[in-house]
Amino acid sequence: MDILLLGPPGAGKGTQGAILATRLGIPKFATGDLLRDAVRRGTALGQEAKAVMEAGHLVSDDIILGVVREELAKPEAGLGVVFDGVVRTVPQAEGLGTLLAESGRQIDFVLFFDVTDEEILERLAKRRAVEQRADDDPDAIRNRLSAYRDLTRPVLDWYEARGVVHSIHAIGSIDAIAARVREVVGA
Ligand code: ADP
Repeated sequence: MDILLLGPPGAGKGTQGAILATRLGIPKFATGDLLRDAVRRGTALGQEAKAVMEAGHLVSDDIILGVVREELAKPEAGLGVVFDGVVRTVPQAEGLGTLLAESGRQIDFVLFFDVTDEEILERLAKRRAVEQRADDDPDAIRNRLSAYRDLTRPVLDWYEARGVVHSIHAIGSIDAIAARVREVVGA
């Protein structure tokens, strides 16, 4: 089963994605985590992505589709993946669809994590205090939210036209939201 998590920064995709992936026994793949790790290790990918990420802008579609292709080639990804924040532009949605189709797969569910802007700003400010992420400073947050609004929000419409979107009310306790996810996915 292939599941895509969509929603603004700070919507809780990472937390719920980990719970869901464990429950389904499939890997969770987050491009944000992979890129942060590449930056930390100073790989060629990390060097290319660092400044863009820290400013809160999007890494290029080519880079993203390259890392997605590598991820899908791993044996553990053979039965399905929980894709967390992996698709942020319509070309990425198209590209992921093509890559999955190579092995007869498609995105089965898009879970849209629905949160208010106010809640997001509050969560990101809190996370900044705890995690010290370079892209949680006010300027970068503004850029991330506008990238979301301008480039990622249209991805929702793209999948909605394909009838696979389920909205998850993403305010409440971690357990309550996990239960809502479970109701949709049915496992
Ligand atoms: P956020 O909560 O802001 O979405 P992530 O940890 O998921 O944080 O991603 C951090 C950064 O990594 C993004 O702001 C962006 O620069 C880069 N990134 C991650 N996934 C993608 C993607 N699919 N396309 C472009 N850039 C991405």
